[in-house]
Amino acid sequence: MKKLILLISLSCLVILYAFPSEIDRNQMESRINNLAITALNTESEPDNQTSEKLNHSQEKAEKTVYLTFDDGPTSATSEILDILHQFNATATFFMLEPAMKESPEVVKQIVEKGHAVGLHGVTHEVNHFYKSEQAALEEMTASQKTLQEITGIQSNLIRTPYGSVPYLTESFREVLDNNGFKVWDWNVDSSDWSLSDEEYVDRVIGQIEKLDNEEVTPIILMHDKQNTADHLSILLTYLSEHRFQTRKIEEDTKSYNFNCYQRCYRLSTQK
Ligand SMILES: [Zn+2]
Repeated sequence: MKKLILLISLSCLVILYAFPSEIDRNQMESRINNLAITALNTESEPDNQTSEKLNHSQEKAEKTVYLTFDDGPTSATSEILDILHQFNATATFFMLEPAMKESPEVVKQIVEKGHAVGLHGVTHEVNHFYKSEQAALEEMTASQKTLQEITGIQSNLIRTPYGSVPYLTESFREVLDNNGFKVWDWNVDSSDWSLSDEEYVDRVIGQIEKLDNEEVTPIILMHDKQNTADHLSILLTYLSEHRFQTRKIEEDTKSYNFNCYQRCYRLSTQK
């Protein structure tokens, strides 16, 4: 193919000289020369350069992954931020209001390092948060206010305690939605709260591989805790080796939440 280009280029040159036309000859000549040079260069290019080019085009096809950390800030947050920085990774932190009040400097750090901040409520108690639409709304509004006081950011991104199924019924969703909140669940559950050492990383990778086959963007639920921080670099190494690009959740990112189907019910009618 490359030889063919070279041959055509040279033929053009011959035709050009044999049949001069209105077209500016110098311009034509330089175009033909460029074509010929490109063909020659490609021909003589060593294999390693070719593979570099391939890698480059693969990089463009990077896949998105969302890392999310709940329940912070905690004493592990700074370490998580350091590790994310080492891997040039970004994440989203769904934070609890009392924890934000306790460590406002850490909350500021999260924002300064370029991560997204969302809300996780006040009590983290099923019996309180899901007691009524008003209770859920009040918890999220209070968290929003505190975050804004600390960082100046008004976040509408929320994750409800333990996820939106089963207690976040349609009427809860409506109230939150009417107040501008966007519910975010997950499609990769790390179970990092129950697994020890690096077990959660294997759990996450297994789920990512499955989603990758289905071409679904992974949204990973993790927790802002020491054991998660201790093994986070293993997960981030896997992600970068498999061409995943971490992204933070933006206010206008289309939210992902569990669908109720027939599974949701009011907490108060549970008994
Ligand atoms: Zn939580």
